[in-house]
Amino acid sequence: MRITNITAQIRSTPLKTPFKTALRAVSEVKDVYVTVETNSGIIGFGEAAPTAAITGETIPSIMSAIDGYIKPSLVGRDFSEFETMMNTLSKCIIGNTSAKAAVDMALYDIYSQSLKLPLFRFLGGSKTQIQTDVTISVNDDATMLKDTLIALEEGFTSLKIKVGTRGIADADTIIQIRKQIGPIPAIRVDANQGWGPKEAVTIIRLLEDAGADVELVEQPVPAKDLDGLTYVTNNTLTPILADESVFSPADAGEIIRRHAADFINIKLMKTGGIFQALKICSIAEAYGVKCMMGCMCESKASVAAAAHLAAAKAIITMADLDGPHLCKEDPFEGGPSFNGPIIRMTEAPGIGVRFKN
Ligand SMILES: [Mg+2]
Repeated sequence: MRITNITAQIRSTPLKTPFKTALRAVSEVKDVYVTVETNSGIIGFGEAAPTAAITGETIPSIMSAIDGYIKPSLVGRDFSEFETMMNTLSKCIIGNTSAKAAVDMALYDIYSQSLKLPLFRFLGGSKTQIQTDVTISVNDDATMLKDTLIALEEGFTSLKIKVGTRGIADADTIIQIRKQIGPIPAIRVDANQGWGPKEAVTIIRLLEDAGADVELVEQPVPAKDLDGLTYVTNNTLTPILADESVFSPADAGEIIRRHAADFINIKLMKTGGIFQALKICSIAEAYGVKCMMGCMCESKASVAAAAHLAAAKAIITMADLDGPHLCKEDPFEGGPSFNGPIIRMTEAPGIGVRFKN
């Protein structure tokens, strides 16, 4: 079975409410959708999210990476040499991880379809259901509380609260939300690189002293400041999750070697797809470092691929796969079902997601 063509198209899906973090604000998911064709008739499907503030990629950069580098390197390649083919995808252009991720997941989609297995079973997994948190965007306190109460009404029991824009005052936001919602819902705090190391320690200790019962704090300091991240991890009791600091398996190894964070957030748009994400899982598993499966502002095509990986790997114990829930419309059919906090896998071969028309 050989690759005969790779095509990419741009489509937009509006969000229910704007997605805002310490780094960016977006009101729609405008992504690149990739179709890979084979001489067997099996077609694979993937998605790339242009997250310029994190991966450096834009719609034009993703389109030209695929058309100019990935497609010429892969057309004609045979699935009987899958490892070699995936290494070619990794090496045909430096960076451009989201462009690679879209093609990578389409290739896994094809390979698992050819074996008539859902992707999570092809990867050796057996979880048929996973649970995701939901993002509460950074806003004024009243809006964040209102969004939190809506999320709880929708059945979410785990919240990913975005902060990182107001320094020490971020602690008050979290403490107020905890007071309003009571002790049960889990609170994950994501600063998206918004604090300095000492500021982060001060804020996290305020949260600890106030009994805010925060499950974890994600990426408190800038991505490249691994010394700062290590300082925060060593000087607080709350578990620290590395997100923007970890793109590659080597990044994950460095975080673990330094014990710079307690957990690792894996996103296909950072790793360049499933092939590299599996290596991060193996490194993390070897050292007992639990992972979260996350997503950018993505629609169901790529989040479904992430859900398959999360369903496949025991070391992925947390999921932040709320992209489809945040979209106002669902232009897709098939694949895992996203119903509030619950993602249910199906036994359909491959990833299973296609555009409705
Ligand atoms: Mg994050």
